[in-house]
Amino acid sequence: MRIILANPRGFCAGVNMAIDSLERALELYGTPLYVYHEIVHNRPVVERFRARGVVFVDSIDEIPSGAHVLYSAHGVAPAIRAASAERRLHAIDATCPLVTKVHLEAVRFAKEGYTIILIGHEGHDEVLGTMGEAPANIRLVQSAEEVEALDLPAGAKVAYLTQTTLSVDDAEVIISALRRRFPQIVGPSKDDICYATQNRQEAVKELVPAADLVLVLGSQNSSNSLRLAELAEACGKPAHLIDGVREIVDDWFNGVETVLITAGASAPEEMVQECIAYLQQRYGATLESRVVREEHVHFPLPRELRVVAV
Ligand code: SF4
Repeated sequence: MRIILANPRGFCAGVNMAIDSLERALELYGTPLYVYHEIVHNRPVVERFRARGVVFVDSIDEIPSGAHVLYSAHGVAPAIRAASAERRLHAIDATCPLVTKVHLEAVRFAKEGYTIILIGHEGHDEVLGTMGEAPANIRLVQSAEEVEALDLPAGAKVAYLTQTTLSVDDAEVIISALRRRFPQIVGPSKDDICYATQNRQEAVKELVPAADLVLVLGSQNSSNSLRLAELAEACGKPAHLIDGVREIVDDWFNGVETVLITAGASAPEEMVQECIAYLQQRYGATLESRVVREEHVHFPLPRELRVVAV
């Protein structure tokens, strides 16, 4: 067996910043420490922090007055910030700056009187946060069919935005449908799909032809990880999205010579290394690391933590 290891893979700058923020907040404030939603969409990461006394909540009402709360990398709606302020919580904002950029675009388009078509996945934390910036002005679409079904006149003043973790190819199809229906539509200079999502998809696309099977490390609720598995399958290769080596099923490897391994932006590298070690031990696999694109992106800790550090 041969393993092709995709680069880039795994943690992005936003996830690194969010996890470092939670570590730093634990050092500074101890437990209980509250996080609104999962800090990142990765089950092992969340479970480890939970075991250390971090409490993950889906409602601000669950947090006692005066406590510290971290907002996850996916961002929050203004209503959540207002609810925190009302409870006199000490909020630390670990929203990825690339998500904040989408929020600011939503605010700007809404102020300018646009109806905003947000391309994203219903119910995803990031989408809830972005829609909360201008709930009366934003319409969510998830497919080209939903674009056709929009009850807006052809000449409507419309703008579009996208979730940061979409499939690049699917988003292009939906944006083309929007441009066909609303030729006057405006949007961000390209789209809002972040560098990490794009690079991980690009690496899979380039490397998948040489593979018989693809392993994607990541959780089932991780949008960008799911997109990697879907992309591999769309290229005609079986793909499995797994949280770690324990989820590997040996029957998958019958007749398989080459396995491509990648990881979503919220999947820790140690999960990747455990899978590689397993395949090496069990199947005598050789390892070939392939770099499709270099990444040198870094985001500083949130302002609230920097101030305390000074
Ligand atoms: S996937 Fe992209 S938008 Fe999401 S946290 Fe990472 S860098 Fe930020």
